[in-house]
This record gives sequence, structure tokens and C-alpha cells, in this order.
Amino acid sequence: MRTIKNIAVLTSGGDSPGMNAGIRAVVRTGIYNDLNMFGVLRGYDGLVKGEIVPMDAKSVANIIQRGGTILKTARSEEFKTYEGRKQAYENIKTLGIDALVVIGGDGTFTGASKFIEEFDIPIIGMPGTIDNDLAGTDFTIGYDTAINTVVDAVDKIRDTAESHDRVFVIEVMGRDSGLIALRSGISTGAEAVLIPELTVDYDAIMKRLDKSRKNKSSRIIIVAEGDKEGGEVVADKIKENFPHYDVRLSILGHIQRGGRPSCMDRVLASRLGVASVEGLLEGRRGEMAGLICGQVQFTPFNKAIKHIDKINENLTRIVEILSL
Ligand code: ATP
Repeated sequence: MRTIKNIAVLTSGGDSPGMNAGIRAVVRTGIYNDLNMFGVLRGYDGLVKGEIVPMDAKSVANIIQRGGTILKTARSEEFKTYEGRKQAYENIKTLGIDALVVIGGDGTFTGASKFIEEFDIPIIGMPGTIDNDLAGTDFTIGYDTAINTVVDAVDKIRDTAESHDRVFVIEVMGRDSGLIALRSGISTGAEAVLIPELTVDYDAIMKRLDKSRKNKSSRIIIVAEGDKEGGEVVADKIKENFPHYDVRLSILGHIQRGGRPSCMDRVLASRLGVASVEGLLEGRRGEMAGLICGQVQFTPFNKAIKHIDKINENLTRIVEILSL
């Protein structure tokens, strides 16, 4: 087995709350094991441009509670080319870096797989995305914080919706996955949740809205941004069906990515950070560290990036049952 002495960590793709806790765990686990640790700025872009800095225990002090990523993140077109990846390899070779930990989503792991294949670099991945759309882990780092941000915002909108007897259509993040919409919908008592994984039954939704009129003065419909029609169209359709309703649209946007990571995300990132470095030292590569049923497990990148459908039909049923 090859000896690893120098490890670099980077964050890539969209940022998510808890990435800092992950960076901290990777750096400190490395130092605990007498390794030299480095941070790559701006994801693969920094790898290609050689923006790589040494990191010590102090450089990750007081960051576990901070949202975003101190290493910054970016999308890199150059890293998608062989020439870009070759340049990245030259840069890490010059610094003597033996292995990488990459924190990101499916694109990040696809890039990592190619880098391993072409340049024989051990890489372990950590799932850092608010969408929770990776296989090989029950939850991704950032998802729990993001749904709590959504719940907080929807609760506030519910207050004003209730005061004015309004129907609010609220669009939340989730380009390919309705998990943010579904869980936040259940926990805010939404009357309906529209997600990309399921075809919308408009008739059923309209009936439900009409029926709930006798019990409720406000109505909340949560729409995932990846839903085939999106919040604006849904709001227009409700207005068409119920011209007397006061229908408003609210798109929550980027607040869902920011904020202090929840306790759950901090613990998840800490556990996976430790596991990633220990995994590399045990000779692992090309795998993502994840948590399944409370246990750390490693899943090959090619399996982790499959967008498995984590939609539990029981959850969609719950929305309907409880929306009376
Ligand atoms: P998120 O789920 O938050 O969007 P992600 O990791 O999927 O995160 P992407 O922008 O898709 O985010 O990917 C991050 C980076 O990974 C890209 O900017 C690119 O540098 C690299 N990457 C993505 N796809 C490939 C690919 N097919 N080949 C090489 N590199 C890739």
C-alpha cells in the first residue's frame, strides 16, 4: 500500500452549510495522524491554477459554526478537459500532495473519477450538497440546515398568509430532487407539495384546496424548482381555478444555501471528514464516505452519483392525509 503523507482538501460545486465543519474535520484528522495538510481554493479551478495553501489546526479554528466554505467553491470548465486535469496533476505533484478529499456533489465525483483514472491519485469524496440527491448516504452535508431554513421561512410566510386569508405558492430549491420540498412541506403543514419525481394531479390539488376552505384561512403549496412547471405556472393555474383567491408567489432562492449549519450537519460533516482521511490511510480511493443507518459506509463514485429516487411514497401520502 502506498504511503500517504500530504493530503489536500477542496470544496466544489454548489456550497452547502457544513462544508466548513467537513474541512475542519479533514484537516484536524490529518494533523492528528502526523500528515501535512493543504487546502485548495475555489475547488477544481484552484487545483488547475495552483491555488493551494498549507493548512494547520489553527487555520480551521472557529469555523465549525460558519455557513459557506472558507476554501470557496467554483465551477471549473478547464478541469473538464484532459489538459486542465493534467495541469492540476502537475500542480499537486510539485507540492508533493499524495491524495485528495473532495467535498461536493455528483459533478465533483465524476471529475474525481477521471482524475484517479488518468493520474493515479487516491481521492475520497464527501457528500456536500443541500439537495440530498446522492446514493450511498441517507443525508448529504447541508440538507438538514437547508430544510430547516425553508421551514423557518415558510412558518413566517404562513403568519402573513393567515392574516390576509391568502394562498401562497412557495418555490424551494431542488433542480432534480423534491426532497427539500417534501420534508419541508410535511413540517410546515403544506396543503400540497409538487416535486419533479411525481406527475402533478391538478384536479386533486384543486379539490384539496377547495375542501380545505372550511377548516383553513391560509393555504401553502410548496413547489420544487425542478418541478416540470415551476412556481409561477402553478400560481397562475390556481388563480385561474379560483379567481376569488388572493394567490401570491414567493421564491425562496439563495437563503436556502446559507446560514449556520445545524447540529446534525456539523456531526455528519465531522464524522465523514474523519472517515475520509482514515479511509485514504487504509488504502481506499474512488469512493464517497456516507452515513447509512447511522454507520459510516463507503460507496464507489460511480454508484454514489446515480440519482436514486429517495422519495418515500409514505411521505407524499402524509401530505395528503394531513392537509384536510
Ligand atoms: P452540486 O450538486 O451542488 O451542483 P456538483 O459537484 O454536482 O455539486 P458541478 O458544478 O456539477 O457541481 O461539478 C463541480 C465541478 O466538477 C465542475 O465545475 C467541474 O470542474 C467538475 N466536473 C463536473 N463534471 C465533470 C466531468 N464530466 N468531467 C470532469 N470534471 C467534471
